Amino acid sequence: MKLGIVGLPNVGKSTLFNAITQAGAEAQNYPFCTIEPNVGVVTVPDERVDNLTNINKSKKTVYATIDFVDIAGLVKGASQGEGLGNKFLSNIREVDAIIHVVRAFDDTNVVHVDGSVDPVRDIDTINLELIFSDIEILQRRQAKAQKALKADKNAAKELEVINKFLNVLGQNKSARTLELTEAEKEISKDFNLLTDKPVIYVANVSEDEIGSADNDYVKKIKEFAQTENAACVVISARIEEELSSLSAEEKKEYLADLGVDQSGLDKLVRASYDLLGLISFLTTGPDETRAWTISKGTSAQNAAGKIHSDIQRGFIRAETIAYDELMKVDGNMVTAKEKGLIRSEGKEYVMQDGDVVLFRFNV
Ligand code: GDP
Repeated sequence: MKLGIVGLPNVGKSTLFNAITQAGAEAQNYPFCTIEPNVGVVTVPDERVDNLTNINKSKKTVYATIDFVDIAGLVKGASQGEGLGNKFLSNIREVDAIIHVVRAFDDTNVVHVDGSVDPVRDIDTINLELIFSDIEILQRRQAKAQKALKADKNAAKELEVINKFLNVLGQNKSARTLELTEAEKEISKDFNLLTDKPVIYVANVSEDEIGSADNDYVKKIKEFAQTENAACVVISARIEEELSSLSAEEKKEYLADLGVDQSGLDKLVRASYDLLGLISFLTTGPDETRAWTISKGTSAQNAAGKIHSDIQRGFIRAETIAYDELMKVDGNMVTAKEKGLIRSEGKEYVMQDGDVVLFRFNV
């Protein structure tokens, strides 16, 4: 899974991205500081994985991961190809969801590209570029569909969906605000519209506001997010950057001092999972305990394919137990088996979050 970080210059994208990579690429107090898109990988925190590792004395622990792509440089005029605009837009086209960082901190030392802090104006500036780009794409498709009307009976349906989108986008609203039927959604998948991608608005607040009530900027961002049925996560990129250099123990203490139980990055990762309808299943043994990411509704056989195509092909059954059930017998698979707690599921079984699984398969 790939998430693209977007936002105006100087809102804290690089700072957040540094926290993600812990690589310490320069966060500088001027626009355009990061030009190439960078990819950072975060592990998805999961105490179930930690517990199973300890119980089974696994030699290796592998967490699920999410890729974050830093798409800096998206500025006003990007859709007209200014400031390497088109390149950024095509980077966004490749991600599964968008993390839109919005400045919600006052700091006279940090220049704002438009002179003042105004989160909704800032969101609009970025979204308008994405909207313009979507309109351009749809107009091209519209012309094509119109030509195909006589020969292709699907073209009329497609044209109808295109026009619905163009109507919404023409009002400067994101494509995701349009309600579609399932059939229409199926048609629109092909369009790969930027403003139809799931989005999380990240309100970047000042380091001394973490743990306090929402400031006015945050309230406005949350209000806006609601109009798009989108999530809003409050973080302080500065704090995330500091946290990323600490050990797990120190991190815990620091978070407790701040009066929060989860880092902003952890919150963001969780929200991304929810947003994209992702769940994890687990495998465990002396060699390795591991979390695997799948979409909700994935069948046992397809889940097996995540591990290896051979296991999917030769699938016989999935021996499975819910993590919570397993923990009732202290996480011991052998005891669970003796007590008949492990179920044998066929290939059509719909995997549940936290299923601990052993796949049986023919080689
Ligand atoms: P980008 O252009 O969006 O990548 O923004 P940067 O991450 O480079 O941040 C721009 C400036 O804002 C830097 O000087 C950061 O230190 C500062 N900044 C980022 N996050 C915070 C924050 O949470 N609080 C404060 N006070 N400054 C921040």
